[in-house]
Amino acid sequence: MRSSLIAGNWKMNGSLQSVIDLVEGIKAGNRGKAELAVCPPAVFLMKVGGMLAETGIALGAQNVCDQETGAFTGEISAAMLRECGCRYAIVGHSERRALYLESDPLVAARFAMAQASGIVPILCVGETLDEREQGVTETVVSRQIDAVLDVCGISGVGQAVIAYEPVWAIGTGKVATPDQAQAVHAFIRGKLEQLDADVSQRVRILYGGSMNPANAAELLSQQDIDGGLIGGASLKADDFLAIAQSAQEA
Ligand code: PEP
Repeated sequence: MRSSLIAGNWKMNGSLQSVIDLVEGIKAGNRGKAELAVCPPAVFLMKVGGMLAETGIALGAQNVCDQETGAFTGEISAAMLRECGCRYAIVGHSERRALYLESDPLVAARFAMAQASGIVPILCVGETLDEREQGVTETVVSRQIDAVLDVCGISGVGQAVIAYEPVWAIGTGKVATPDQAQAVHAFIRGKLEQLDADVSQRVRILYGGSMNPANAAELLSQQDIDGGLIGGASLKADDFLAIAQSAQEA
């Protein structure tokens, strides 16, 4: 039985004060059994990590460098993220792939570096609208996962979290239907099953893309959806907690 994970990706939103308020709100209202994680902007990781101590709510980063140390201006190493208390790091978010041209091999290298430092990568995969319309969703998702399998193998993927995030559903208010999402999740699990049946049953596959309190219950009740990676709705404590409540009831 896979436990649920509800992770909030706060992206580049907020200020120190609004982040503090958000963490306080989540802490105060958290009654659930679903595992929660929050991924604040990097400059607030230390602060949020301190506030989350002893709460059971995990800290995550929005990215991680593929290199260990050195002249990589603007990057943050996995060891530094560990020092901030991170358990998770998102890798391969579609905004990183599209806006900052992160390629499959670079994403795989970031994934590997996170894992080598004891951080659990949350690997984002997903197709654009154009790719869905061309009928190549499975090809795209497969390619993105294969890049990581090539570097880290099935055992590496087995110790990570995968987030299926159709690009056309991210931040657009256009959510995938439960059937559409379940179909891709089942495809991913089936792909992993061909390599290792145990891993395929164990690995958590989150859905991400305009998940909110109104649509979460139906998405999270799908057999192969094990939680959510939440953008916009994770910026309001009540909405984030309502989604977590749905995960618990799913
Ligand atoms: C995301 O960016 O990972 C995401 C799922 O965003 P949103 O929930 O806003 O669509």
